[in-house]
Amino acid sequence: MDADAERATLTSLLDLEEFEVVETTRDRPNQLRRFTLVPKVAVGLCPHCQGVTDERHLCRDRQVADLPMGGCRTELVVRLWQFRCPACDKFFTPRFAALAEGSHATERLLARLAELAGRGDVSTAARFFGVAEKTAEGWYYDFLERKRKAPAAAAAAAAAAAHLQPVRSLGIDELSLKKGIGSSAAC
Ligand SMILES: [Zn+2]
Repeated sequence: MDADAERATLTSLLDLEEFEVVETTRDRPNQLRRFTLVPKVAVGLCPHCQGVTDERHLCRDRQVADLPMGGCRTELVVRLWQFRCPACDKFFTPRFAALAEGSHATERLLARLAELAGRGDVSTAARFFGVAEKTAEGWYYDFLERKRKAPAAAAAAAAAAAHLQPVRSLGIDELSLKKGIGSSAAC
């Protein structure tokens, strides 16, 4: 399989529709699989004026825990762009539905954790996902709190995201990331 086909397969396996897999590594001794992801959409929707901008300011990697896969813990390294809105002259980092706000975890991991914790206890769920109990506890209560007040906010975010279409051709920055020659400082 060539590299593009392999990335396409991994992207579809991981099934986070906002992101594309650009790299994967496996740390066997630690039973950890790591995926590096970039957003499919290369523009940002300004949270202040709802305008669309492609003026990218800088790129930061966020480490995010995801559901375990094949007996390995899964860690995502998500390359997130900070944009500058020319209309408001403000900087912002777009939100993604798959990434839990304020937690270094995916929404789907938190949903499973909450399900397990709801039936048993948080420490069992923490052991199952291989995370510290304190971390799992924080995630769990934040998750419940967000769910409690979320329906309106989630609907608004989904409506805003529906205006953005994935770009079909990636720009030069993504291509350099794919070849592994990009770095946080350079992109
Ligand atoms: Zn704006």
